[in-house]
Amino acid sequence: MPLDNPALSVNHKGMVSYDLIVLGGGPAGYTAAIRAAQLGLNTAIIDKREVLGGTCLNIGCIPSKALLISSDHVHFAKHHASRHGITFEKVSSDLAQIMKRKQEVVRQLTQGLGFLMKKNKITRLTGIGQVVAPSKVILTKNGGEQEELQAKQIILATGSVVSELPNVIIDHQTIVTSDEALSFEQVPEKLVVIGAGAIGLELGSVWARLGSKVTVLEFLPRIAAFYDPDVTQALQEALQGEGLTFHLETQVTNVGIKNGKARVEAFNKVKQKTEFTADKILVAVGRKPYIEGAVAKDLRLKLTDRNRVAIDNHYRTNIPGLYAIGDIINGPMLAHKGEDEGVACVELLAGKAGHVNYDAIPNVIYTNPEVAGVGLTEELAKQKGIAIKLGKFPFAANGRALANDQSFGFAKVLADSKTDKLLGVQIIGSGASELISEAVTILEFGGSAEDLGKIVHAHPTMSEALKEAALATDNRAFSIPPY
Ligand SMILES: Cc1cc2nc3c(=O)[nH]c(=O)nc-3n(C[C@H](O)[C@H](O)[C@H](O)COP(=O)(O)OP(=O)(O)OC[C@H]3O[C@@H](n4cnc5c(N)ncnc54)[C@H](O)[C@@H]3O)c2cc1C
Repeated sequence: MPLDNPALSVNHKGMVSYDLIVLGGGPAGYTAAIRAAQLGLNTAIIDKREVLGGTCLNIGCIPSKALLISSDHVHFAKHHASRHGITFEKVSSDLAQIMKRKQEVVRQLTQGLGFLMKKNKITRLTGIGQVVAPSKVILTKNGGEQEELQAKQIILATGSVVSELPNVIIDHQTIVTSDEALSFEQVPEKLVVIGAGAIGLELGSVWARLGSKVTVLEFLPRIAAFYDPDVTQALQEALQGEGLTFHLETQVTNVGIKNGKARVEAFNKVKQKTEFTADKILVAVGRKPYIEGAVAKDLRLKLTDRNRVAIDNHYRTNIPGLYAIGDIINGPMLAHKGEDEGVACVELLAGKAGHVNYDAIPNVIYTNPEVAGVGLTEELAKQKGIAIKLGKFPFAANGRALANDQSFGFAKVLADSKTDKLLGVQIIGSGASELISEAVTILEFGGSAEDLGKIVHAHPTMSEALKEAALATDNRAFSIPPY
């Protein structure tokens, strides 16, 4: 094999040898590879996709956000522009152009990653990798040709795939997953979304804004149940305003196709049988770790009881020299969690002090309004028996929010009632995904609600709502009356 990286070595059997092989080129894997290269490790990254970026860049975070902003513009032009004195004779949307722009964003980012690999002198290998022994990987290239590679250490970062519902056959045409719902060629007249988590709500919003009649079915009593009920209630109201219909405590029992129309059978809240018909059904009930064929069976890779790869606190699996990061290990399946694990894992294997603070990982739903949270929710704090004080501040009392016509929602701050230590923040409102970073920073540094309330915030900004919510934990917000 021609070596474009002079730092590589070839052992006596002609096998190419690296310090580190990263298996999987998603956010966890490519970040690990870049950090390894920065630390001087001679590194290869393997992914079966032609381009790097994994789920996130190709069929996840990025394309969904591209569709969310385009559809939000359409919604604004149709429903809100006139409030600003802007009128259009007729607003129409061109789905082909929306999809073209989305693909262009994906192309730009995935090509950028290819460039970054080159500049960091990381060897990029395309094909399916399998760890067949400690320190040994067999690469099956897309043409079928195989190559044996050796590495002192290997990181497994093979990500996740969509979870399916028992007895539901996904035909990828009518009954689809997020993979297809990011690329519909026509706006479905009626769309049923099964699952009201982040992915279901984001894609449901996209298609509702583009004209679909969207019905969301959720098994739990509320949508996005990892946030507090006051937050999810507000989110549900806002999304209903966008045209989405919700059926909660609804258990899907059967999904099928009849006369070209998809049908969902379910038991509703009061255990009555109900039926929904649609042009497309999006199954968005979560994701599951993917390690199919990535490690030879005879190595007996240890899994947790939830089928994630079992690791110790240094990301080491039970196989010597094999580490695991990202969606395949415990914790929220989020790109930024995987990225930080990539950095921490490489630093640890290079003898440094890598660390991820799992108590300070933000979570965002990119609907309109956005929802963002970090740390404990009120519900969790109560379950844990922690005595808390709460501060809540509505965007309706924030000058910038009113000026921007974005006064829906609130910021909610939780602090320890005795020590004032910041424990958690939830924000529902425009720009929540950006606003949450400040709370993450305070949480990371072990700061207090008072710290957040005393920091000078530019005026007028939406971020002042977060400052005032922190002050409200002691009933001393300025722009709302005392309790
Ligand atoms: C629609 C959607 C929207 C999302 N939005 C967000 C968001 O806004 N924010 C967020 O934080 N997260 C979001 N996510 C989740 C996010 O995409 C994942 O958490 C993230 O991609 C996980 O990164 P990873 O590196 O662990 O795995 P992945 O990104 O899944 O990458 C794993 C890679 O490994 C490759 N691979 C697997 N096995 C092999 C093998 N044996 N040989 C070679 N290659 C292999 C796969 O091809 C894949 O490219 C979203 C997901 C979806 C589906």
